[in-house]
Amino acid sequence: MTNEELWESVLAQTQLNISPANFATWFKGTKITSQKNNQVIISTPNSFAKEWLEQKYGKLILKIIYSLDNNVKDVKYFIEKQNLKILRNGQPALSEDNQLEFQEFKTDSETNLNPRYTFENFVVGSFNELANAAAQAVVKNPGFVYNPFFIYGVVGLGKTHLLEAIGNEVVKNFSKKTVRYIPSEKFTQEVVTSIRNHEMESFKLKYREIDVLIIDDVQFLAGKEKTQEEFFHTFNALYEKNKQIILSSDRPPKSIPSLTERLRSRFEGGMIADISLPDLETRMAILKTKAREKGTDFSDEVYSFVASVVQRNIRELEGALNRLVVYQKINNRAPDLGVAEVLLRKITVNARKQVAPKKILQAVAEFYDIKEKDLVASSRKKEIVRPRQIAMYLLREEFKGSYSFIGRKFGGKDHTTVIYGCEKINKELELNKGLGEEIELIKQRIYVG
Ligand code: ADP
Ligand code: MG
Repeated sequence: MTNEELWESVLAQTQLNISPANFATWFKGTKITSQKNNQVIISTPNSFAKEWLEQKYGKLILKIIYSLDNNVKDVKYFIEKQNLKILRNGQPALSEDNQLEFQEFKTDSETNLNPRYTFENFVVGSFNELANAAAQAVVKNPGFVYNPFFIYGVVGLGKTHLLEAIGNEVVKNFSKKTVRYIPSEKFTQEVVTSIRNHEMESFKLKYREIDVLIIDDVQFLAGKEKTQEEFFHTFNALYEKNKQIILSSDRPPKSIPSLTERLRSRFEGGMIADISLPDLETRMAILKTKAREKGTDFSDEVYSFVASVVQRNIRELEGALNRLVVYQKINNRAPDLGVAEVLLRKITVNARKQVAPKKILQAVAEFYDIKEKDLVASSRKKEIVRPRQIAMYLLREEFKGSYSFIGRKFGGKDHTTVIYGCEKINKELELNKGLGEEIELIKQRIYVG
């Protein structure tokens, strides 16, 4: 049978098994592109159709194809290339009549601020109340209340959003003030380039005329001595002139490894506010806000379901919501709870799959062929110390354990020992490609086994 003939027969039979609406929605624009090595390859117009076919109709399709051709053992789905347009936010866009119109925002070239982040669309709950209140105070009187203003919290909880909202608000209220937002990696790059091109003077001038300097993710300054030194001088120059400095990090200043003492004490000299995890109600409120921003709304039942599945990261919450929005655009109707459950199945499964610390320790011990109880004891033998540091590193990176939690796992070690261990591995990873591969292999054991 040719590809067309086979697919036509499959469609004819599928049609008998599912509702006309579903058939039209999920099978439109699909085709068989090849039949080779007992495998049939089916092209789909977008990622949603692909997932839906795989998850919901995969068995049915395979059964039908098998009944038509006993040699077929496997069916694979892929997304037709020309339909795959990735937008800046990483969400796939749909082509043709289903084109999704995500709002595109342009970063301002002067301030480097993204206008999409404002206070209007920043939801406040107990998890970020303090950070928000301090931010409001800073906006009213930049440079004079909390200086520096240091926000910390794990990834995806709104640090960048808040930082940029402050910047945007200052620009709005004080048209004469120079505001600049810069991620710390970019700041580092600028320092390095300026030194290389002998442009340190203009670098200094540029940074010293800023009224509000916002540096995101300063944990990446760890170990970058030259950058830290430059930043220290910039910091002092601005601070003395009552210019506002705003910083964010994934941890408090005292936990940033290899940060020079003088910079650390500068970071600690103003206001430090943390952002923790939003509770269920706040997660629902965030979903509602985001949905309305996208010009849509869903039932409370659906919001509550999404908010209960995605708990640890607001960015993921938004990703989940986008799936529902896309579904709605394609089908012209809001997904109900049942549909939402199918659309978010992948996330639900992943959420349940959180890796256990025990698993990490096992995998490391196994990989280096040492006993797990030696790994967590206090032997200083070289062949134990290194795997131990790698285990600490993995507990931090993969399990997201706090340093003191990890310390406890290793017979009550101090959190500074853990930070030292993680930092050592981090540093070595930059230099030693072999170690990266080694760790990758361990990760595979953790996740596959
Ligand atoms: P971080 O910088 O902490 O990693 P981001 O600021 O990038 O996190 O936030 C991730 C996503 O979540 C962004 O799209 C942001 O708009 C959204 N977000 C975070 N916190 C809030 C909030 N309180 N209200 C509304 N949206 C939020
Ligand atoms: Mg960020």
